[in-house]
Amino acid sequence: MKLDSIITRKMGECYVCANTQVQYHHIIPGHAYRHKSDEYHIIVPLCLKHHNEAHQGKELDLTLRAVAQIKFEKKYSHEKWMEEFKIDYKERYEREFRK
Ligand SMILES: [Zn+2]
Ligand SMILES: [Zn+2]
Repeated sequence: MKLDSIITRKMGECYVCANTQVQYHHIIPGHAYRHKSDEYHIIVPLCLKHHNEAHQGKELDLTLRAVAQIKFEKKYSHEKWMEEFKIDYKERYEREFRK
């Protein structure tokens, strides 16, 4: 399978800081979504620092999920996202980080 990301074309650099030492992060966690994540390319290149941050449940984690959802919905639809991934991360992001 071609290594591809729904949220960036630059697979060789960290999505956050452009560091070129990257690992590929599955944006939606959980074994149940692993296959779907690969199918829809819901992955993102991150450097070690930002990869750790994404796994610590901080703002970056939710931001990546919301961005992935937005990109997915542009390509498919909101209904399809909800059908495949169940949770509306855009709505959750707005609720948590809106001032
Ligand atoms: Zn980084
Ligand atoms: Zn990861």
